[in-house]
Amino acid sequence: MDYKKLVEVYENISKTSKRLSKTYYVSELLKKTKDDEIEKVLLLLNGRIHPAWDKSDMGVAAKLVIKALALASGLSSDKVEKEWKKTGDLGIVAYNLMQNKKQATLFSEKLSVEKVFADLRKLSKISGHGAVDTKTKIISGLLSSASNVEAQYIVRTVLEDMRVGIGDGTVRDSIVWSSVEGLKINYDGDGNKFDYELSDDLLQLVPEDSKNKYANIVEIIQDAYNITNEFAEVVQILRKDGVNGLLKVDVSVGKPIKVMLYPKAKDMEDAFRIVGKPAAFEYKYDGFRIQAHKKNGKVMLFTRRLENVTNQFPDIVKAISENVKGDDFILDSEAVGFDKNGKYLPFQSISQRIKRKYDIERVAKEYPVELNVFDILAKEGKNLLKMGFLKRRKLIECMIKEEDKKIILARQLITDDIEKALDFYQEALKAGEEGVMGKNLEGIYKPGARVGYGVKLKPTMENLDLVIVGAEWGKGKRSGWLSSFHIACRDDDGNLLDIGKVGTGIKELVQEVIEDSSDAEGVPNKDSDESKVEDSSEEKVEVAKEDNNRVTFTQLTELLKPLVIEEDNNGVKVKPEIVIEISYEEIQKSSKYSSGYALRFPRVLRIREDRAVIDISTIDFIEDLYFEQK
Ligand code: AMP
Repeated sequence: MDYKKLVEVYENISKTSKRLSKTYYVSELLKKTKDDEIEKVLLLLNGRIHPAWDKSDMGVAAKLVIKALALASGLSSDKVEKEWKKTGDLGIVAYNLMQNKKQATLFSEKLSVEKVFADLRKLSKISGHGAVDTKTKIISGLLSSASNVEAQYIVRTVLEDMRVGIGDGTVRDSIVWSSVEGLKINYDGDGNKFDYELSDDLLQLVPEDSKNKYANIVEIIQDAYNITNEFAEVVQILRKDGVNGLLKVDVSVGKPIKVMLYPKAKDMEDAFRIVGKPAAFEYKYDGFRIQAHKKNGKVMLFTRRLENVTNQFPDIVKAISENVKGDDFILDSEAVGFDKNGKYLPFQSISQRIKRKYDIERVAKEYPVELNVFDILAKEGKNLLKMGFLKRRKLIECMIKEEDKKIILARQLITDDIEKALDFYQEALKAGEEGVMGKNLEGIYKPGARVGYGVKLKPTMENLDLVIVGAEWGKGKRSGWLSSFHIACRDDDGNLLDIGKVGTGIKELVQEVIEDSSDAEGVPNKDSDESKVEDSSEEKVEVAKEDNNRVTFTQLTELLKPLVIEEDNNGVKVKPEIVIEISYEEIQKSSKYSSGYALRFPRVLRIREDRAVIDISTIDFIEDLYFEQK
């Protein structure tokens, strides 16, 4: 497929905020996409070259794009940088420079989706000595063959700053519109409404008395996506075996599936109202979610964002191998850190283990974790998602040999008595936990959904997980550090919406051990291997973290420097990658920020290494909290 076709869709989508229009544009593109292009097109549409759970990234910041633009346009880097300062947007700079250039080069290779995708994937595999030059050449090669508007989107893709919002919901609906045989969509063409007709075959698959049969079909697609985690796979199955094929999609041990999420209950009465009586209450442990798979005797561990972290947690692998009966299963659990006295520690103290690439055994000893198992999703080839919660719990009780500070079952109480439930809640808080989870005894396990089969109950105002999108340089004693951080939430389409700035909660400690590590590519030292070179900044940053577990300005500055995509004298705009947890006193309406809200007294609590942009708080959630607090 010509890259141009994809770019036309980006352009059309950027000009509308109507979800139906976006759905239409993407669905028309999908109809024209061949089987072997589906994966690439779907990823690129989202500005990605790897699935969301894959940690690989292109490692390209603004400076490198400037070099590539200079090479492709024949201008000096200084000139390109000046243009950048004028517009603040390297995509626009690319558009302008390639426009001029095109008059000179009449013949250039026509760009295909395959070529762009393959070249961008190459970027993520290059590291070590000479990496900057090689990457510059690849990007400038693409830019030289690109039209002006193609160049604009290539630059935005490598900077991971698409400025075009296509959320998972829109992609899913586009798949429904384009790839479900037997579903006819009559769309009004201006983004306001559509109706549908279902074939007799499809009608057989939905409840007869359903008022919204279209929604039933969408749900089938969503359920399959929650298990496969790949839209491309969903489309392939639809094309080959239709909706019936999707209904047969099953959990596959070894392949992570989306975890179930839990809405918040206002109080204990509300918790019972949502999950029913009697209910199971469990400690809500403050660690990070681990989905543990075992297949053919081999244990694999995944985070909530489906990253494979098996290598980082040999201690958990061992605990599961030794203490859990069975050869084939998927467990859901929370890994929690504890100190020398066995006291549970907050998430931040062990978060560094998630990204660790070497020296793992030592760090595992220094920052031990206990696995608190609370659910099971599959066992010996059997999918347990539709089995009631109580039965699932009984299974894990039979399978797990509990061993303190290694692997235990989530502490649980089943009751219909509000007083007993409240006592249990207090007991959890006294033990240093965050609160309790309340669970419906018959509840199924619904991957990816925040449905009422379980709720969380905690005493504090709900913290927000927000992503840093920019920062300002500090003044006076904070000069040299980024000190005020612009934070954003997201909407359903993945657009980021500003919600204010935060500068408190961060330590001013000067970390002398931390040197400038902004050159992300680095130059390998002859005694070290490449992975160590890549990791050196991470190592330095950890020194800061070990101090009281509070985030420091130095640490945030070092994390953000390689992510800069725009800068001026006051500060920087960065790729939205660093997720921080923020507490606050109140949510207020505000016309100053694009979310329409601002936080009163926001405070940085910790960096959430286990969360990606897709996991940050949504505007709907913030709106609910706003009304709740009133
Ligand atoms: P939150 O992160 O505040 O939305 O709370 C939900 C998270 O609590 C889940 O994603 C789990 O990581 C964690 N959690 C801790 N203990 C439990 C438990 N017993 N059952 C389910 N989730 C738990």
